[in-house]
Amino acid sequence: MHVYSNKKIAVEDLAIFNGKSLFEQPKSTSSLSRPDFQNFLDYSRKFFSAGHYTNNGPLVRELERRLASFHQAEHCVTFCSGFWALALAISTLKIDNRSEIIMPSLTYRRMADISAWVGLTPRFCEIDEETLSLSAETVEACINENTAIILAVHPIVNCCKVQQLIELGREKNIPVLFDSVESVYEAVPTGKIGGIGEAEVFSMHASKLLNGFEGGYVTTNNPGLAEKLSMLRTFGFKGQDNCVVDGALNAKLNEIHAAMALANLDDIERLVQDNKKRYQVYEKGLSELKGIRLLKFNQDFPTSYKNIVAEILSDWPLSRDLTVSILNAENILARAYYSPPLHKKKMAYSYIPAELPITEELSEKFLLLPCGDLVTTEDIEEVIRLLKFIGQHGAEVIKRLDNLQDNNE
Ligand SMILES: *Cc1c(COP(=O)(O)O)cnc(C)c1O
Repeated sequence: MHVYSNKKIAVEDLAIFNGKSLFEQPKSTSSLSRPDFQNFLDYSRKFFSAGHYTNNGPLVRELERRLASFHQAEHCVTFCSGFWALALAISTLKIDNRSEIIMPSLTYRRMADISAWVGLTPRFCEIDEETLSLSAETVEACINENTAIILAVHPIVNCCKVQQLIELGREKNIPVLFDSVESVYEAVPTGKIGGIGEAEVFSMHASKLLNGFEGGYVTTNNPGLAEKLSMLRTFGFKGQDNCVVDGALNAKLNEIHAAMALANLDDIERLVQDNKKRYQVYEKGLSELKGIRLLKFNQDFPTSYKNIVAEILSDWPLSRDLTVSILNAENILARAYYSPPLHKKKMAYSYIPAELPITEELSEKFLLLPCGDLVTTEDIEEVIRLLKFIGQHGAEVIKRLDNLQDNNE
């Protein structure tokens, strides 16, 4: 039986007031999926015996074939990270001599750095309240004669409205690249994520659904694009010692990362089933909690159930940020959802100033709760129990924090 040794009885038992943390080991929001170890070793033996460690080795090629088929796309090109997959896909697809990239502001924290590497200036667009992602409408408002590319980033629960974005791109003659990092397993009415638009970009960072330690890939149905991208990732070589592109760089995936990704790909149905169990515990637990609403996965289509995102409603006694701090002290590594939004961040790179009231309002409301392969359903029950406790004692928590502050002044 599970023993709740760190049960909170009074407010001072909270770790934020120096009580003992609920968890000894931190509970994170990263997937950290752990495949069958023997399977990982069996894959690794292949490249190890062949002595082919990198440079388009047997496992990288096998992984690219498997991923193309998984996503129902014609081609897959792997990279050392999602970052470089994105940067090279953007630089290949963008319209030359134009300077702006349209992207949401409520998105992945490093997105503006990626634009800087490819020499584009972000023009941040507003989001749609329903999907928490950009929409054809919000993108259209940002299109001008400088628009080089549209970066359509899927939100972390469900997908953006893909078809309208593709139609907008066609109508305006602007390439649409999808960042589908958070939608590896999902599908939309027109088909599986991965075979849509000009190209789609994915990450295999350990925190993502498909863990290859590190890594990224692009799927596309365009053979010319696939060829160009596979050249760009290896110093721009075409054949031996014939470097055909300037600004060459090394962005290849190596064999041991491919071995991990293949082992995890073999295991992906198991992972999604376990994610679903975790999600269902949250769904039940949070439905009994006033003031916190779980973002629901659209179960009409395949979904990974990976990310647990909750909205703090007005009848929750504490702010989102204070709630996150209280949870963090308990070793629950809850995180604010994409906050602050990129247009409110201090950045070394330039971007076009924007007023995005919906983004700003929503960026204060959401938090991510622990999930992934290392979080058990018992852990989740403890997290919910703690949230209940915080919800019931909110006023007291605030009073105590105010007192602490007064004493420090
Ligand atoms: C993580 C992430 C990336 C970057 O992937 P890395 O492999 O970590 O470089 C890009 N886009 C989104 C939405 C992400 O979450």
